[in-house]
Formats: sequence, C-alpha cells, structure tokens
Amino acid sequence: MKVTEHLEKGAGKTLFSFEIIPPKKGHHIKDLYENIAPLMEFNPPFIDVTTSREEHVYLEKDGLLDRRITRMRPGTVGICAAIKHKFDVDTVPHVLCGGFTKEETEYLLVDCHYLGIDNVMALRGDAMSHQKYFEPTVGGHQYATQLVDQIKNLSKGTYLHNVVETDYKPNFCIGVAGYPEKHLEAPSLQSDLKRLKEKVAAGADYVVTQMFFDNQKYFDFVAAARAIGITVPIIPGLKPMAINRHLQLLPQVFKIDLPEPLIKDVEACKSNADVRAVGVDWCIQQSKELLAAGVPLIHYYSMGKSDNIRAIATEVF
Ligand code: FAD
Repeated sequence: MKVTEHLEKGAGKTLFSFEIIPPKKGHHIKDLYENIAPLMEFNPPFIDVTTSREEHVYLEKDGLLDRRITRMRPGTVGICAAIKHKFDVDTVPHVLCGGFTKEETEYLLVDCHYLGIDNVMALRGDAMSHQKYFEPTVGGHQYATQLVDQIKNLSKGTYLHNVVETDYKPNFCIGVAGYPEKHLEAPSLQSDLKRLKEKVAAGADYVVTQMFFDNQKYFDFVAAARAIGITVPIIPGLKPMAINRHLQLLPQVFKIDLPEPLIKDVEACKSNADVRAVGVDWCIQQSKELLAAGVPLIHYYSMGKSDNIRAIATEVF
C-alpha cells in the first residue's frame, strides 16, 4: 500500500514510522529482525531502509573504463523485501542518484515492483568522502528531481530500454527530502523550497524532513512550503540525540542548529547513558507537540538502534 494511502487511512490520527540503516557486512538479518520487532507494537504503516553510497572505482583497462564497486552494506531492496514479508509491513527503499547509472536505477525499480514494494524515497545522495561537492555518477542523475522524473516515467510505460511488456507500468508512491533549515548547499531556504516544489511538480507524493530539534523550524517550513503552493504531506523526521559527540557532529554534518536548552542539558551529562536519557526526553517533548499540532505521522531516524525509539514511542503513541 502507498504511504499516501496509509496517511489518508490514518484519518487525522498521527502515525508512527521509522527508518533503519542496513548493517555493515558480516551481520545476519536475524539481528535486524530483533531490532525491528520491539517497534512493531506501535503499528508502523511503513519502514524506510536507507541506501549507502557505494564507492565506484573506475580503472582504465585496455583502453576501456572498468568499473569496480565496493559495497559496504547489503542491498537495500533485498532488505526491504525481507522485512516486508517477515513483518507484513510496507517498506520504503531509499533510491539514490549518486553511485547509480540510470540503467541500474531502472533495474532496481523493476525489482522493487516485482517484490511488491509500492513506495520509494528518491534522493540525490551526498558527496563521497574524497569529494568537496556532489558529482553525479557517469550515466546517473545530478538532482533528485531527475530521479523522480525517471520513476514517474515508468508509470507511463516509458523505460530507458524497451525490454519489458508495454503494460508493465509500476506506479510508485514517491517520497522526497525536505530541509526545514535548508539543504547545506542551497544558497537560501527560499531557493531550496523552490527546488522542493520542482520535485513535487515532477511527481513526488510526499516529503520527509531532515531531522530538527526545534519544532518551530518545522512549523515555519510547512507554512513557507504551503505559501508557495506545495500541498503534499510533509512528514517530520526526528532523531533522539544519543551521544555527547552529537553536539558537534549533527550541526557539522547536517548544518542544523541545536536549541540552547538542549545543548545545556547535554553538556551537563556525565556519561553517554545520561545523554541518551536527555535525548529521549527531548524527543518525547518534540513528538508530543507535533502530535498536538496534528501532523499525519512522525518518522524516527533509528540509526540501527531501537531501544531509544521504543522508549519514545511508549510515551507518545
Ligand atoms: P536534491 O533535491 O537534488 O537537492 C540537492 C541540492 O541541490 C539542494 O541544495 C537543492 O536546493 C539543489 N538543487 C536541486 N535541484 C537543483 C537544480 N535544478 N539546480 C540547482 N540546484 C538544485 N542520503 C543517502 O546517502 N542515503 C539515504 O538513504 C538518505 N536518506 C535520506 C532521507 C531523508 C528523509 C533525508 C532528509 C535525507 C536523506 N539522505 C540520504 C541525505 C540526502 O541524500 C542528502 O541530503 C543530499 O545532499 C541531498 O539529497 P536531496 O535528495 O535532497 O537532493
């Protein structure tokens, strides 16, 4: 079922969902199941599975470019299929521009459809560690809007390669990213919002926000998006702070602001266990306020751990 259908079916009730990161190679899917199972009692209509940018190395061999792929984590689509069938829940694979040619993306989307996956999150991906700015993969997309276009084309039966039957028209529900504190590369919030509008015009059905720790940023963002005609659901994404290092790391990586009272509380912590408790409390307060404001769903970044998300959900849902 599509994310948008779940939201409509929710009929005013705030739903709970979360996102997981595929574990690094060397783990068994049983570990992932054990992590997800405690969250299933909160009835998530869907679970997102992120995709890590794969390192693609191009080598010159006999005058031809030889592409080698270094994969750190198992494939997102396979994990989505496994979770979907294990827990009978919809899953949302994150599909990236970076690291994939358009052909690879097409194959991946055909696999998703075959596996009964109805939703995808269309994202550009970040620059790789050795790059200053994002560089599109040879034969891939530069912006998420182009990826949305490609996904939407399938619903019209338009493929890059005419290798499938013409009535095979997967009609995915498409999510895209939104940034209440603007994307780190965007010259201004207003210009970033215009780009978001382009993604929606290309066919995105809903938006999930980057994490934020001050709800006012989300409320202002939604108001600004509505003011320029973005009408699709805008789902807030929340992450509980978990370690002291997050004080530096989160602003540095995501270019987000942390509220002063939260900084003060974390600085007063004597251990990471204390930080975890502060992070859970803060996230509960944020969640309760969002719930009172009537948001359709709250999406949690679990970062591979379910215990803090469970503690929050127990208080909120
Ligand atoms: P875009 O929408 O393409 O925007 C990127 C930048 O380009 C923005 O600054 C935008 O303003 C600008 N822009 C857009 N179109 C144009 C244009 N036509 N001309 C000029 N500028 C333009 N990353 C991962 O690697 N894996 C994941 O699984 C993942 N999941 C995520 C989930 C969520 C909910 C969020 C919020 C982010 C996620 N990310 C993930 C991070 C994301 O890939 C990065 O934030 C990335 O830098 C931007 O992705 P985007 O899809 O927002 O890009």
